[in-house]
Amino acid sequence: MSAHAHRIVVLGGDGIGPEVCAAARSVLEAVAAKDSFTLTFEDKLLGGCAIDAHGTALPDDTLEACKRADAVLLGAVGGPKWDDPTAKVRPEQGLLGLRRALGLYANLRPVRPHAALADVSPLKADRLAGVDIIVVRELTGGIYFGQPRRRETVDGVEKAIDTLEYTDVEIRRVVRLAFRLASERKQHVTSIDKANVLESSRLWRQVATAVGAEFPSVSLDHQLVDSAAMRLITEPARYDVIVTENMFGDILTDEAAVLAGSLGLCPSASLGDGRAGLYEPIHGSAPDIAGRGIANPIGTIASAAMLLRHSLGAPASAARIERAIDSALADGLRTKDIGGGLGSDAMTEAILKRL
Ligand code: NAD
Repeated sequence: MSAHAHRIVVLGGDGIGPEVCAAARSVLEAVAAKDSFTLTFEDKLLGGCAIDAHGTALPDDTLEACKRADAVLLGAVGGPKWDDPTAKVRPEQGLLGLRRALGLYANLRPVRPHAALADVSPLKADRLAGVDIIVVRELTGGIYFGQPRRRETVDGVEKAIDTLEYTDVEIRRVVRLAFRLASERKQHVTSIDKANVLESSRLWRQVATAVGAEFPSVSLDHQLVDSAAMRLITEPARYDVIVTENMFGDILTDEAAVLAGSLGLCPSASLGDGRAGLYEPIHGSAPDIAGRGIANPIGTIASAAMLLRHSLGAPASAARIERAIDSALADGLRTKDIGGGLGSDAMTEAILKRL
């Protein structure tokens, strides 16, 4: 890791977002002190809090700071206050706009259920043994962005149109990223599509196969999304890196999170071509528990570990955080969502103590 100060923009956002970000920041500060590197933090507004302050979910000043940063740490955005579906300005526009503006086309979600938490997973413990998956979801293309997208009424019949489109360029870059990850892990990529029905999936499969040829040491298999949804639950240990398009990934990543036992435990990273990335827990702003000091900070602390690994080139510091989380869980420390009574601060302290 280089000696200069790494700039991290912190977007606490709404609900429990600022609480879990504060926890992750304290862990990052502690690790930087131990491993002798310098981090600078800049707090900016995104989502509902930005709408309240500036009338927009992604203020220019936030976007500019994020573009200059080495990495962005995000809590969560949204909440009942901004929930009107017909509102012109909505919190999630901030997040979508930011991912797009930063060119973050790959969303990584590691799923590594902790042995000590087998009792909080709905799956039997023997199914979870050895599960260590990263799901790579394409994030900036596919049906969520394709055009045309409209409603129309023709001869009294109401119709809605969404468009699923991908270019080979969009597919190649995200599949390559998945192969690079697999080449540092268990050397296996599973590409998930619906090639028996969708033209876009046939292109996906063709490009994935071609990219696979660039990585002779990594094996590739293709699965259809429907059977993959089943196998992810019945035989999760057979997966290493999964790569898939935006909507399939949206659904499968939530399914995969169930393996870990709680939303509060799971981290994520959004990456593009450069080193910079956006790191956030997979949960939302949890308005039902905001301000009560009981949010599980582990998903965000684990996201901070991913930040060190993928954006700051500090894998040893990342592993130090992950070991501290594992050790706290192995010692039976639990927040409320995973069946315990610790508050966010006590859980964070326990992790800090084990760094
Ligand atoms: P949510 O993830 O906020 O909460 C779902 C349930 O999980 C709630 O009972 C909550 O208390 C619990 N939970 C979530 N995170 C937790 C944590 N760290 N510790 C303990 N318990 C935790 O999902 P939701 O209720 O569907 O959405 C609430 C708001 O968050 C909505 O406005 C939604 O749009 C927004 N949201 C934002 C993001 C994001 O910013 N990336 C993602 C999902 C939802």
